[in-house]
Amino acid sequence: MHGEASHKRAPQASTLVAKVEWRGMRVPFRRRYVTAQGQAAARYSLLVSLHTQDGITGLGEAAEIETAGGAAGLRGLAALLRECAPRFLGLPLAEVPAVARATLAPVASATLENEAAAKALRFALETASYNATGKALGRPLAALLGAEPRPLAVNALIGSESPPEAARLAAEAVAQGFRSLKLKLAGHDRDLDVAILEAVRSAVGPTVKLRVDANQAWSVGEAIEAIALLQRFQLEYVEQPVAGADLLGLAQVRRSVSVPIAADEAVGSLADARLVLQAAAADVLVVKAARVGGLVESLAILRLAEERGLPAVVTSSLETGIGLAASLHLAMAGRPGGPASGLATGLLLESDLLAQPLLPVAGLLTVPRGPGLGVALDEAALARYGTDVGGAVAA
Ligand SMILES: [Mg+2]
Repeated sequence: MHGEASHKRAPQASTLVAKVEWRGMRVPFRRRYVTAQGQAAARYSLLVSLHTQDGITGLGEAAEIETAGGAAGLRGLAALLRECAPRFLGLPLAEVPAVARATLAPVASATLENEAAAKALRFALETASYNATGKALGRPLAALLGAEPRPLAVNALIGSESPPEAARLAAEAVAQGFRSLKLKLAGHDRDLDVAILEAVRSAVGPTVKLRVDANQAWSVGEAIEAIALLQRFQLEYVEQPVAGADLLGLAQVRRSVSVPIAADEAVGSLADARLVLQAAAADVLVVKAARVGGLVESLAILRLAEERGLPAVVTSSLETGIGLAASLHLAMAGRPGGPASGLATGLLLESDLLAQPLLPVAGLLTVPRGPGLGVALDEAALARYGTDVGGAVAA
């Protein structure tokens, strides 16, 4: 018996991909989700599995960013994956992220929707490979990113609602233990936005942090005027007041107001994040793994923000529990004690598809124990929310 453990063979992390499988899901929001960009009744997402030759399965998720995609977006994601899936067969897990990046890059130049889909899919494939590698090594995904699991403060997310509804949801979130709330603004109706902030601030009191997201709704002039009106509600920050591509405009808004400005849609890659910093366009960087194309790219943005002394906020793209868990592991690599992360979004969906839902307790999210993502799917939920979109490619 003596010394037996040391002679045990290490689990193989370089195990080869034998099958790529995908399954489209449609999960309704608990209440219609409204932002300045539109509204949605459900979230569509593609669950992506990499099966290895030695029987390990890694899961990832691609939910197209924002609400535009819908059922057609889901079919687009599936078609894109069907096209590139053969490239991953026979590959060692460790090579999946680089091949995903190379394979899904040409699409990135076609159209904006395609670029969003390609990046979301890269995130899914990368998550699946890290998840499987974590399982093979018996280590949590966070550890593969060089991070230690710890409880993470998260904000509650409230869609653009009527003032009384927003106030009710805000009070409910605070009663559940949230200390930070994010409100989606109407954007097009300044009086309504003031009324929402007024109702929410008086409902939650002065100490709860309030951040707002305009989702690119304003021109530079409108943004400066609106933020001047909203600043009396002591905002933690205003997210993406103007178009993501308008870095000079964003910088101009930032110079003209006293409320901190966060860049979200402007951060589509590490290169974009560098440009945002170069333009002095933001006080806070929002990092979405689906938007930037994966965990590795996100990690680089977190490191860049840290170097420059800017807070970074890891947020979801309203994925179900698979994508959320991946972003939660990623957030462990961020600097502790920063602003709350935007990962409480599982609460918005009817189901997060997990056997053990990944939901915050008292405003904190905890990384599930166990190797890889540490989560398992709920088969009953998969049957309930499944769509006719699905397929597989095997060696
Ligand atoms: Mg945003």
